[in-house]
Amino acid sequence: MAKNPTLVLASRNPGKIREFQTLLGPLGIGLEAFTGPPALEDGETFTENAIRKARGAALHSSRPALADDSGLEVEALGGQPGVHSHRFAGEGADDQANNQELLRRLAGIEGEKRSARFVAVLALATPDGQIWTWRGETAGRILTQPQGEMGFGYDPLFLSEDLGVSFAQADAVAKNRVSHRGRACQAFLADLPGILADLFA
Ligand code: IMP
Repeated sequence: MAKNPTLVLASRNPGKIREFQTLLGPLGIGLEAFTGPPALEDGETFTENAIRKARGAALHSSRPALADDSGLEVEALGGQPGVHSHRFAGEGADDQANNQELLRRLAGIEGEKRSARFVAVLALATPDGQIWTWRGETAGRILTQPQGEMGFGYDPLFLSEDLGVSFAQADAVAKNRVSHRGRACQAFLADLPGILADLFA
């Protein structure tokens, strides 16, 4: 692998940035926050949105850029909130409002029917138009009330099938090992040496 490669990270979400630093920092991959104009996230799939963000950041910064698009898919809601996860309770909604909206929509729905998954798609783009994507998923169930203080977003309501506790009750290392973003990153890391050898040759 190239020595100390640095990628531009197209995210403004402090929770996600922290997770990427934990996942990639120890492997010697530097991350530089992208501060340019945000991409329009109006695609219909996580992949479309991840590519938009990575491509926008790569073109604007003239550097290889990494982005993810992620969200929660709840079975009883036909896969909602999906790509609308960060604005489920309306434009500009915060995590607490989104969690309240999720509980409201699931009122009266019990057991298996509360099953859900988090999905993340990572995209790497270069200024000359090369694109790679990786996908990760993790299964769970939506709790009837928030549990735990860690993490961000829907973590307090997501009972992880792998961990047996909510993501907000798991420390960063445990969550990253089984999370959608962690799994997408593992797939990305498996391909990375070959990609970096090209990019930073
Ligand atoms: P975006 O990928 O920036 O469009 O936002 C994804 C949204 O999905 C976040 O704002 C959260 O609401 C939710 N989300 C994605 N990943 C996680 C996670 O690991 N834990 C909790 N919520 C998440």
